[in-house]
Amino acid sequence: MTNSTIEQKTKTIEQKTKESRRNSAGPSFSVSAQSNEPGPDCPLCPRLKDYRDANRAQHPHWFNAPVPSFGPVDAQLLIIGLAPGLQGANRTGRPFTGDFAGDLLYGTLIEFGFARGVFEARPDDGLTLVDCRISNAVRCVPPQNKPLPAEINTCRSFMTAAIGEMPRLRAIVMLGRVAHDTTLKGLGVRAAAAPFAHGAQHQAGTIRLFDSYHCSRYNTNTRVLTPEMFRAVFASVREYLD
Ligand code: SF4
Repeated sequence: MTNSTIEQKTKTIEQKTKESRRNSAGPSFSVSAQSNEPGPDCPLCPRLKDYRDANRAQHPHWFNAPVPSFGPVDAQLLIIGLAPGLQGANRTGRPFTGDFAGDLLYGTLIEFGFARGVFEARPDDGLTLVDCRISNAVRCVPPQNKPLPAEINTCRSFMTAAIGEMPRLRAIVMLGRVAHDTTLKGLGVRAAAAPFAHGAQHQAGTIRLFDSYHCSRYNTNTRVLTPEMFRAVFASVREYLD
């Protein structure tokens, strides 16, 4: 698929999303005029909205909103995770910040030159991403870290828009099967043509897709994913971009 095809597809999805917003938006729903990010009160997934409201009541000082992408929009690399963790990104407002998954991810990004600074699991730790941007397949925290298929489908419009707004994008790392499947759908790549496997690479037009197991605590504790396996993925990305 060519970049112009992706652009066209993104425009179509954005148009559909705008229509959906016109039809379903509650009074507090807004989308930032500066970007394709959902507004803090996005109502498109009722279950996640209810969960967000409950978390706001219980933890009023937490972020408790759709977590925006992090990193420069002109980066060549985009990393797509699953969804914010309850006490991670949902609490801090920055992807992979505040729970275990961020330790391995940001440590690896620093090692391969995709991040600069010291990761201290706080959004004000001064860490910056270098030629790299991080987003999630689903922007709102789901109960038990498990978004429903309908929620993944609904939030895909934001993920696809995030892809479409990166003019220099050349590589996407998809963390886990959910990120893999929704990215393929968003880009119009047939699933059978790009089966998920840790370390696998696929091509979507001019964009190289890299599969990885998700860097969750569960996957690392069970040795489904070791730090060496994770580093190998980013070594391949580094080699591809260089
Ligand atoms: S998951 Fe995405 S589409 Fe659903 S409510 Fe949150 S921001 Fe909106």
